[in-house]
Amino acid sequence: MKIYLNGKFVDEKDAKVSVFDHGLLYGDGVFEGIRAYDGVVFMLKEHIDRLYDSAKSLCIDIPLTKEEMIEVVLETLRVNNLRDAYIRLVVTRGVGDLGLDPRKCKEPTIFCIAIPMPPLLGEDGIRVITASVRRLPVDVLNPAVKSLNYLNSILAKIQANYAGVDEAFLLDDKGFVVEGTGDNIFVVKNGVLKTPPVYQSILKGITRDVVIKLAKEEGIEVVEEPLTLNDLYTADELFITGTAAEIVPVFEIDGRVINNRQVGEITKKLKEKFKEIRTKWGIKVYDE
Ligand code: PMP
Repeated sequence: MKIYLNGKFVDEKDAKVSVFDHGLLYGDGVFEGIRAYDGVVFMLKEHIDRLYDSAKSLCIDIPLTKEEMIEVVLETLRVNNLRDAYIRLVVTRGVGDLGLDPRKCKEPTIFCIAIPMPPLLGEDGIRVITASVRRLPVDVLNPAVKSLNYLNSILAKIQANYAGVDEAFLLDDKGFVVEGTGDNIFVVKNGVLKTPPVYQSILKGITRDVVIKLAKEEGIEVVEEPLTLNDLYTADELFITGTAAEIVPVFEIDGRVINNRQVGEITKKLKEKFKEIRTKWGIKVYDE
């Protein structure tokens, strides 16, 4: 496997970063998880936009243009001869000293990894619990910034693991349910699709935006409003969205069974639509 690292493609065994990199020392960096489906990088422009927004928020000045960064992603797939892949694009503040001061980091570290990953969207649903750890408030560390600091999600994931379930949902500081450890949440109630709004503590998921668009195209009413646990417990359908997860139904939350452990009609429709567009809404890797 060849990995893009600071302007070059290197063998996996040579893809090393410094122990003085602030990405490692402090989680001081940003990243994107991206998918490619049959030679098309899904929503690549949107992922690059979000990466640059995250970097800007943290005052990390990425020394490549967005067009150059798109080329980095495409070239990483080409050199590894991949068509269906998961891509991890990372920009850290770079190598500094052991102090916190970001001014000591002269140049960001940039790397891009692509591994083979087949398209998903099976029929299975997952079991979820509510995490005891809360999502960070927007004025503490805004979850809209996709930083390398994922400890909040990791703590929730550890709790899900101990409980023997697949995923944990996090509440915000007010007690509203906001998102999963690496995914956004959707509820269907009486034919209306609901999801937490972007002013709450969520990452504005790119799959979330796609699902909202697909639902509207299907004539489904979409409402972005704060959701309580009770809204989830009494949902007709419940599912999560994310680049890695795609669209996955939730069959059980905190012991409450949703829709008899069946994939609901609206979830099914959205999964079908997603399957149709995932090889279309993006940037082609190869000339064909
Ligand atoms: N929330 C969090 C915390 C995430 O890590 C992710 C995955 N990037 C998402 C939501 C879903 O975002 P996307 O659809 O852009 O992958």
